[in-house]
Amino acid sequence: MAVNASDANVANTTSAASAAERLRITEIFHSIQGEADAIGWRTVFVRLTGCPLRCVWCDTEYSFYGGDWRDIDDILAEVASHGAKHVCVTGGEPLAQKRCLILLRKLCDEGYEVSLETSGAIDVSDVDPRVRKVMDLKAPDSGESKRNLWTNLNHLLPHDQVKIVIASRADYEWSRDVVAEHAIDKRCMVLFSPVHGAVEPRALAEWIIEDKLPVRFQLQLHKLLWQDAPGH
Ligand code: SF4
Repeated sequence: MAVNASDANVANTTSAASAAERLRITEIFHSIQGEADAIGWRTVFVRLTGCPLRCVWCDTEYSFYGGDWRDIDDILAEVASHGAKHVCVTGGEPLAQKRCLILLRKLCDEGYEVSLETSGAIDVSDVDPRVRKVMDLKAPDSGESKRNLWTNLNHLLPHDQVKIVIASRADYEWSRDVVAEHAIDKRCMVLFSPVHGAVEPRALAEWIIEDKLPVRFQLQLHKLLWQDAPGH
């Protein structure tokens, strides 16, 4: 069958639009949110592939490589199949793929409670304001504190959260001082979380109490329940 120029243009445009709306995905799974403000809610996790950082205590190294290209509409259909109200877009570093912004917007348009777990190293200013950002600041023992993009603090909304993962007393003191210096607790909730096996959770809890810090201590519920197995 002959294809005229106009049909060819439509086909090219359609295929370009579809290519433009794909993301590399490591996994999509249905579990319980293990941390931050939405802890305990049944949640669908969309884990995007890739991360430009290499935190020494990273627990999702399996997401650095591989993954499958998926159409955003296909991702939305799989999310919907689980019938959960909460969706968490995570990684890796999800914002390393620019089209993550489209996924976030579409999830919000569908009416989900959407959270984004991000490293704090990539600009968050274009993230849909309906999304609850859970943004890391990297303490020195992560090996990546030079990657903190401090201007991101200006784009935090009251429903967002800043998370600092703490591996030592030195990390704790850095975190305490950074929260005070930037008045981060006045912008949004601040979460301090111990690195499993590196700092005693009880020690971190006691330091927070002793210094009367305006932060929220957290343990990762999914580690207690599933010991870090992928898919949870
Ligand atoms: S930013 Fe997150 S995914 Fe990337 S290396 Fe650090 S902990 Fe791992």
